[in-house]
Amino acid sequence: MSNDELNALQRGYHKREELEEFGVLPPEEIVKQKRVALIECVEEIPCNPCAVVCRVDAIQKEDLCALGTVDWDKCTGCTLCVAVCPGLCIYLQSIKDGKGYVTMPYELLPAPKVGMKVQLMDRSGAVVGEGNIVMPTYQAKGDAYPRWVVTVEMNDPALSYEVRAIKIVEEK
Ligand code: SF4
Ligand code: SF4
Repeated sequence: MSNDELNALQRGYHKREELEEFGVLPPEEIVKQKRVALIECVEEIPCNPCAVVCRVDAIQKEDLCALGTVDWDKCTGCTLCVAVCPGLCIYLQSIKDGKGYVTMPYELLPAPKVGMKVQLMDRSGAVVGEGNIVMPTYQAKGDAYPRWVVTVEMNDPALSYEVRAIKIVEEK
């Protein structure tokens, strides 16, 4: 069976066109104004820490198993939902001064530091470009795994709609 014939659950991720159809991706006019969260959850499972942790009630879920949606007017870009999501499926996205920015969870080594060069990967794991770690990274506490919240900068702002993982290629 080809990748195109699989559904999101079988594939492990949503394709961009599916996310656009569901209204998951924030439009350019919003990400050019501020950094906002988006949820690329695949499974409808009983889970809600994202909605509980959000201090401004920006994440809505119709019921415990429903997929969450983000109210971008309310979202402050605080990153708490990225740090807490056990599914590693919440990201923040923004475009500023012609550059793209994506904030994501990161649980691998080496530990990320500001200034490190990274390979940028899309939802399927394909390398789509290079970028730098730019924003303060912090380690989420209280989980079984060390989890950092990492923001990467990319020269092509359109890539912020594709990049959902990184590989550190230059250590500091
Ligand atoms: S980034 Fe902060 S404000 Fe925005 S949805 Fe996540 S927890 Fe809420
Ligand atoms: S915390 Fe993550 S996995 Fe759980 S409902 Fe929210 S987005 Fe989905």
